[in-house]
Amino acid sequence: MNPEKTEGMVLRVVEFSETSCVVWWFTRDFGRINTLAKGAYRKRNPFEGAIDLLAISRLVFLSKSSEGLDLLTEARLEHSFRAGRRDLHGLLCGYHLVELVTRWFDSHDPHPEFYDSLRDSVRAIDQGGYLPRIVTSMELRLLSSTGYEPAWDRCVDCGATEFAGPRLAFSTLDGGVVCSRCRAGRRQIVSVRREIASYLQRLTRDDREQAADEPMDKVRGVWGEIRGLMGQVLQHRLGGPLKVLPLLTFLARNPNSD
Ligand SMILES: [Zn+2]
Repeated sequence: MNPEKTEGMVLRVVEFSETSCVVWWFTRDFGRINTLAKGAYRKRNPFEGAIDLLAISRLVFLSKSSEGLDLLTEARLEHSFRAGRRDLHGLLCGYHLVELVTRWFDSHDPHPEFYDSLRDSVRAIDQGGYLPRIVTSMELRLLSSTGYEPAWDRCVDCGATEFAGPRLAFSTLDGGVVCSRCRAGRRQIVSVRREIASYLQRLTRDDREQAADEPMDKVRGVWGEIRGLMGQVLQHRLGGPLKVLPLLTFLARNPNSD
């Protein structure tokens, strides 16, 4: 059996025995994997700091051919998630991303581009980046990289691109905006400002989450509307409620109002 090498992010650590634990990873090249880390709780162990929550590490593991656990043989820390120790909001955002990745992806289903964005976002949270934008951008990329990018500028049903009025009707069932004709009789419609829809479309594609100034941040009520919509879209896709999401109300506050 050849050892596999990759980079990964720690999603969860579960005690396995007095000296060993199981580490859940989201890796760049193998997607989600669960590894047994033997001796992780010993005083001198080969994984020091590399298997803490949301740590980004280089790892080497032996893959099991059966359903069993992969065996972690080496883990070297590249970046530790310091926000977890000093900033409750940053920590909650980290937990939210962990829950999304854990529930969204099957094991051994790699998404290297999404992995790279996720790693950059976790670093951005650590560096005190603007949390509403970082989290929303990751949620949008999660949707787009798995084939669920919402239709923001054309009717998801008939393809129409002409819309009347300042607000659009977003269908969470269909995953996109619907025109006034197709809207009739549909359930689970969320009203969204047209400027917000185009902002979310931009946020999916470019690196706005890193930008220092974003005019949309100053528009009253923008984040309340965005967070409400994203919550519905994600929970519909997952078929059930997210646990950390209700704790993220701080993301919905306008930065100028507190
Ligand atoms: Zn239509």
